[in-house]
Amino acid sequence: MAWKTDGLTIGCVKGDITQQGDVDAIVNAANAQLRTGGGVAGAIHRAAGPGLAEECRDLAPIKPGEAVITAAYNLPNLYVIHCLGPVYGKDEPAAELLADCYRNALRLADEKELTSVAFPAISTGAFGYPLEPAARVAVKTIRDMTPDLSSVRRVRFVLFSDKDCVTYHRLLDEILGA
Ligand code: ADP
Repeated sequence: MAWKTDGLTIGCVKGDITQQGDVDAIVNAANAQLRTGGGVAGAIHRAAGPGLAEECRDLAPIKPGEAVITAAYNLPNLYVIHCLGPVYGKDEPAAELLADCYRNALRLADEKELTSVAFPAISTGAFGYPLEPAARVAVKTIRDMTPDLSSVRRVRFVLFSDKDCVTYHRLLDEILGA
């Protein structure tokens, strides 16, 4: 399924963020130290290999809302963009910090003149942000930023469960029109 806003196509699939070979960059739901761990960060570091952790060492720590970009090593992409989402109930204002992740990630992709980026649902796993409000922030932030993007043309949300996918579909229809 795909939605359009200005010159940007937004897609939404159920899948694994490490298996999106047709996008230039994937986004990591990182931890502050940019280390491996559970969830998305674990999957990305396992698939990328040890070179990724090595490059990350010099870039850490990052703060909530920040993003940094690295090579993708053994992943089938050009780059990994690492974002630190807010821990729900701790890092405030949570919605603003989460929006910063999406804005900063897209800004980095645009600076590298990339055309496509895939995002997981940042902060909605170990960091506890409820999925629906997090998805609303993600979709609205990307929509609002579209006029400022010069090279990014395609964004994909990659969700881990059918239920999350259904929620994103509903919100994309609601916010961007069916
Ligand atoms: P955070 O610490 O930012 O909450 P997590 O990695 O714990 O990040 O989870 C973020 C979201 O990504 C959750 O909804 C989780 O179900 C989902 N997820 C976990 N592994 C993957 C994966 N390999 N690909 C895509 N999404 C994933």
